[in-house]
Amino acid sequence: MGSRARLRQGRDFRPRPGTTSFAAKVKGRTMDQQSKPEKAFARARAWQDDLAAIRHDIHAHPELGLEEVRTSALVAATLREWGVAVTEGVGRTGVVGTIKGRRPGRRSVGLRADMDALALVEATGKPYASATCGQMHACGHDGHTTMLLGAARALAEDPDFAGTVQLIFQPAEEGRGGGGAAAMLNDRLFERFPCDAVYGMHNKPGLPVGHFATRKGAFMATTGRWEVHLLGPGGHGGANPHNTPDLSVVAAHFILGLQTIVGRNVPPLETAVLSLGAIAGGDAASFNVMPSEITLVGTGRCFSDDVQNTLERRMRELAEGLAALHGARATFAATWDTLALYTHDAETDVLAAAARAVPEATVDANAPQQTGGEDFSLMLRARPGSFVFVGNGASAQLHTPEFDFNDEAIPYGVALWVSLVEKELGRTGRG
Ligand SMILES: [Zn+2]
Ligand SMILES: [Zn+2]
Repeated sequence: MGSRARLRQGRDFRPRPGTTSFAAKVKGRTMDQQSKPEKAFARARAWQDDLAAIRHDIHAHPELGLEEVRTSALVAATLREWGVAVTEGVGRTGVVGTIKGRRPGRRSVGLRADMDALALVEATGKPYASATCGQMHACGHDGHTTMLLGAARALAEDPDFAGTVQLIFQPAEEGRGGGGAAAMLNDRLFERFPCDAVYGMHNKPGLPVGHFATRKGAFMATTGRWEVHLLGPGGHGGANPHNTPDLSVVAAHFILGLQTIVGRNVPPLETAVLSLGAIAGGDAASFNVMPSEITLVGTGRCFSDDVQNTLERRMRELAEGLAALHGARATFAATWDTLALYTHDAETDVLAAAARAVPEATVDANAPQQTGGEDFSLMLRARPGSFVFVGNGASAQLHTPEFDFNDEAIPYGVALWVSLVEKELGRTGRG
């Protein structure tokens, strides 16, 4: 059968050494002359239906952080099917696959994907939509897991590298139970599965498919939640408003004061976000009662430990100071969920070069900072490495009921992982 006939048969088409793929024919080269990323890209395209089916299976069965029992079992079984050594239960529901290269080498590289879903009611209307009401893959971790599985298959079939690849399937990126990166690190991830460098990838809505975006240094934000309780005796709003602290006035000053922290306490060339998420106090049926407690909760974002400390200190001073000014009391608490994500310069150069080697890819190696958070930051504080966004096209935003990972991005993600292994452990790599 000629290659054109095989190509027409879609998923039965498997490029083999010595045969000529469509893309290579265009360039007049055989498979043997293709680069590793080109081969991986062609294979991932040939596996597209299989990989998309895996993605849809995971999507239909979302699981919240640290409860990814079915997902991690699927990951482990799929890896074993492809001949990859598997360790389960790393950081509770995490899985690590280990592939040793055909050639000797001491260097090892970690590739990380996340597996958890979110507590949302899905509204995509897709045939593979969540079968669990109230949970959905609204952040695309189903796609991240699938892309790393595709890379595992390509690397296991052709382990032409020197050293070891650790495939890290992480639970609970969204932060449940203290977060999955922390859980894996506490389970001695890097002692048990040594990594000289570690890399992570996330999809990005609005970034065209085939585009990659990375950045040196501070890339993603420290994210935290804060909570203020204003306390007073309460009172009659009509008869005795002058006899009790008005917590509503304190709350109003505090809300306006939040933005003076960003505008006047954070250095002008630094970035910070303080937002109010909810305010609760009193009762809608009690229009003439001045509440004895008002609770305000919100989020904070920044890119440095210094700014994080400033935000926390000034919010506390503002809440306590304003309450005291009005004869009330305040309690303040802040919880920082993820630390700012810093990529390392040398590994970001390697990552950008690997991305540029992916066919049809467009690479932005100086992408803007993101005020989203990512607990992969913890792994990057333990080992050198970097992080990259892969374009999800014109999709709904992350964490919305309409979001869905774009299957067209799968071959790009697979090819990037394989390309990265080639750069790190290949003939021309650092291994
Ligand atoms: Zn998310
Ligand atoms: Zn995510």
